[in-house]
Amino acid sequence: MQALKYLVGYPEPVQERVRALIEQGRLDQMLAQKYPDRHAVRSDGQLYEYVQELKDRHLRQSPPLGKVVYDSKLQVLKHALGTHTTVSRVQGSRLKVSREIRIAALFKDAAPEFLQMIVVHELAHMRESDHNKAFYQLCTHMAPEYHQWEFDLRLYLTQRELGVQDRAHKP
Ligand SMILES: [Zn+2]
Repeated sequence: MQALKYLVGYPEPVQERVRALIEQGRLDQMLAQKYPDRHAVRSDGQLYEYVQELKDRHLRQSPPLGKVVYDSKLQVLKHALGTHTTVSRVQGSRLKVSREIRIAALFKDAAPEFLQMIVVHELAHMRESDHNKAFYQLCTHMAPEYHQWEFDLRLYLTQRELGVQDRAHKP
């Protein structure tokens, strides 16, 4: 049985359905139909503006954003779908806390829903460091379809890796 590393923790019947979709070669098509669009947030500068705009709308009270970048070295799963670090430094007499957000570079070519989902995830970490109930409430406040998008992102990552393997095996 094929291990689905992006779906670890999901109920077995769910994984079963995904395996069936893969075996029938339908996962790719299903995702393409559901998420046909691509966003235009290409550069780090555009990403910064995009994150800032979402933050202004939902998290005005949180500390200002620090650096916001696409990171091609970031492994999505290892870093639990993104990274969020608190950088504290002393500026004059007061401690300034800024937030750095790194988004895995693969999101450049992903559907707008997936980019929004990962940005919402990282922004929610400005308030909650753990993946607890309050964290997911913040996520769904910023993106009501958050849970569906995160699940579908996991499917997208699964499909993406299968695609890479397929190409590598072709002569
Ligand atoms: Zn997280």
